[in-house]
Amino acid sequence: MATLVAEAQTFAGQKYSNGSVPAEVLAELDPVGGHGTDGHAHAYLRRDAAEAWNSARQDVLRRTDISLTVRGWNRTLAEQERFFLRSYVAQTTGGHDARTWHGVRYVRRPGRESVAVPGTSNHGWGLAVDVMDFGRAGQWDLPRRVTAFPVLAEHGWTDTEGRQPHVDEPWHLVYDPAHGGPAPVPDGRGGEEAHTRVEIDLKNGLVVTMHKLRFNGVANDRPETFVRDIHVDNLQGLLNGTQRYHLPVDGVGGPATRDALADWQVFTNTGDGQGHADLVVGKSVWKSLMEY
Ligand SMILES: [Zn+2]
Repeated sequence: MATLVAEAQTFAGQKYSNGSVPAEVLAELDPVGGHGTDGHAHAYLRRDAAEAWNSARQDVLRRTDISLTVRGWNRTLAEQERFFLRSYVAQTTGGHDARTWHGVRYVRRPGRESVAVPGTSNHGWGLAVDVMDFGRAGQWDLPRRVTAFPVLAEHGWTDTEGRQPHVDEPWHLVYDPAHGGPAPVPDGRGGEEAHTRVEIDLKNGLVVTMHKLRFNGVANDRPETFVRDIHVDNLQGLLNGTQRYHLPVDGVGGPATRDALADWQVFTNTGDGQGHADLVVGKSVWKSLMEY
C-alpha cells in the first residue's frame, strides 16, 4: 500500500517537512505585529521569503502608497488540517473540488475557500502569504491588487498557484526562491520622456507592449520627487475597475485602451485642463483611478 509521505526540504542546513519549518529558519514580516484580520498578529515566513516580502512591501509603499499586510503566512501541519477541515468534508461520491487525504475522499463545502491537502501547502513551507484586501475569490481586477502586484512580482512573488482555475484566489501569493531579486530600476530621470512615449503609442493606437510608463509626482506629505511605475495592464485593470470599460487586461496599449483612457480623462476632467483628453497618464489620472 502506498503511503503519502511529504517530501522534506532543506534550507540553511535545516531539513524539515511541510508544516514543520523550524523556528530558526523563520523570520517575521513587516509591519511587526500588524497582520491578520485583527491587525495585531505576528506573521512569519521562511527567512528568504520574509526578506523578499519585507523589501517588496517597502517598495510597494514607496511607489504606490499602498500599505500591505497579510492574513495568511507559515502554517503548521495542525493549522493546515484545521483549515482543510473547515473547507472540506468527507464524502464518498459527488460534490465539488474532490481531494483525497489519508485515503479518504473530501469535497469542498459550498462557499468555502480552496485549501491544499494538509502537508502539501506552500503555506506549510513558509513560502506563501494571503494578502489582506486583495479581492474576493475570482476578483482579479481590484485596483489595489492590480497596482501592487507587479511590484511584488519584481521581488519574486508569484500568483500562478492562485490563478489555477480550482483555486482562483487573488490574495494567495507564493515566493519563488529561484528569483534573483528585483531588476535594477532606472533612476526615474525619464519622466517626461515616458509621457511622450505613452502619448505616441496610445494616439497611434499601435499594438505595442509597454512595460513601464514612468512619471514623476510629489507625494502628499513628502517633498521629494518619487517615481511610480504603471504597467499597461495596471492601467487597463484600473480603467475596468471603474465599471465603465471592459478592456482585455493584456498589457497591450492599443486603440481600445487609448479610447477608454480618453473617455476617462474627459469624464473626470484629468486631461489638458480644458476638458479634453491628452492621453498622458500623470498624477491626476492615477489619483482619479485609485480613488474612484
Ligand atoms: Zn493562501
